[in-house]
Amino acid sequence: MLFFVGYVFTPYFSNLLNYSFLQSYFDASHYLIIVVASLFLIDFFQYVLHYVQHNVPVLWRLHRLHHFDKTVDGLINFLSHPIEGMISFILLSFFIAIIGIPVETLFVYAILAAIHGPFGHSDIRFSDKLEKIINKFFITPQFHRVHHHLDMKRGNSNFGGLFPFWDILFGTAVFPQKYKIFTNPTLGISSEQKPDYSILSFLINPFKRT
Ligand SMILES: [Zn+2]
Repeated sequence: MLFFVGYVFTPYFSNLLNYSFLQSYFDASHYLIIVVASLFLIDFFQYVLHYVQHNVPVLWRLHRLHHFDKTVDGLINFLSHPIEGMISFILLSFFIAIIGIPVETLFVYAILAAIHGPFGHSDIRFSDKLEKIINKFFITPQFHRVHHHLDMKRGNSNFGGLFPFWDILFGTAVFPQKYKIFTNPTLGISSEQKPDYSILSFLINPFKRT
């Protein structure tokens, strides 16, 4: 989905803008550098977008649907409001076009995200030692679990998609060991914000007064 929407919208924005910041650098670089740089740039965009979704009230109304279930597992990765999905994909396409990222590398990111998404939302637990090692390179399920915490003082953290670098760099990283979330998970959103378990309730939830 991510790839197909990007593949449709990115050429449209490229034609519209007729300028890309890094196009000439990408044209002159080795393909491995292009792929790695593109992955980091797309992941950085996802981090910023996710941060904004939590901190701009109107966007949180859409994004909170991804957080509503207190059972966080691999399936919740696929749970989001369709309007949020469309906004995210269109903004990402615009970002790819204006930076000049080759749209083909979105395919690589989409594959990694398709594998990492369900994994990152699962309840797989590593030992503290292994957790620390993996978290240096990739976001672990318990690291992302902190993000789904009911208490937004804790949940407003760990916005990263694939890599933990952006959270560490911008001071939004909270490592799971700090809150002992392994033994006492309290996840989800407040009951006033929650939809009922019906498709209609889910779809109209962002437009409710709460
Ligand atoms: Zn979130």
